[in-house]
Amino acid sequence: MTSQTPEPLRGLPVVLPFEAPASWISRAAQSQGVGAAIFLRFLRMSLDLDVDFHFLSRRFQGFATACGLDSKAFAEARKVMSTLRKVDAKGQGFLFRSGRSARYRFCPRCMAGQRTPHFTLQSRLEAWRCCPGHGCMMEDGCWRCGAAIELPFSPGIDGSRQSHCHSLAQCQCCGANHRNAPVASLEEASARFSDFELLVLSNGSSVPAALFQGRVVVAGDRAYSILHLQQLWKRGMLARPGYGPTATRLRARSDAAATAKNALPRLARVEGTASPAPADDCC
Ligand SMILES: [Zn+2]
Ligand SMILES: [Zn+2]
Repeated sequence: MTSQTPEPLRGLPVVLPFEAPASWISRAAQSQGVGAAIFLRFLRMSLDLDVDFHFLSRRFQGFATACGLDSKAFAEARKVMSTLRKVDAKGQGFLFRSGRSARYRFCPRCMAGQRTPHFTLQSRLEAWRCCPGHGCMMEDGCWRCGAAIELPFSPGIDGSRQSHCHSLAQCQCCGANHRNAPVASLEEASARFSDFELLVLSNGSSVPAALFQGRVVVAGDRAYSILHLQQLWKRGMLARPGYGPTATRLRARSDAAATAKNALPRLARVEGTASPAPADDCC
């Protein structure tokens, strides 16, 4: 694979519906037997960029040509991201990041049902904290070691930090399979989060659709311009970095509740009946 290659690359994986560009790039690099950084360099893209966020316009056209992709490839991702840039020009409030790294959450049940493990663009959005399809919380990172999920990465490539991984379903640090992650249900969330927090959680489920359609529909009210998302975000009606319900916070509250319950003093249970009072025979 050289930069002079005239023909599009062969053997690349199919782009899956709503797949995040960084997810596909990880899989595509693996298919070519190289790490994600080398693959991106060949395509004149930098690993320093947030690939999902910058995967638009002219940058995408050059990429698509080199990879032999249809011009409609990543249509959903590009539409969502181009709308997002109107609302959040740098992606600092609406995208899940750790420093410069792009982070992802995942639903263990969604991942268990995937024939080809991948991450969708929804899982990049800070507001998307629960999976409506499976009625559970999105996991914030590896269920076994707690490591963040950052893409693109290089599963199964010799010499890479992630050479021990076979697919995107595995933790880049400890190799745990995300499909085996314990599930935090929304029933549990309802018991531990306040009504307002549950509203924030619910609002987040509508953000991908709003970004895709370019408008915000508020229950019982009319449709607003997509810029209304900014107002909801400022009013704390949407989850943002460091704010709002997460699976990690849910477990912390469950643990705290269990600890508090165990700390209650054991009360002695008094059984039997009191004997009748002795007869007063003083008089
Ligand atoms: Zn799910
Ligand atoms: Zn791990």
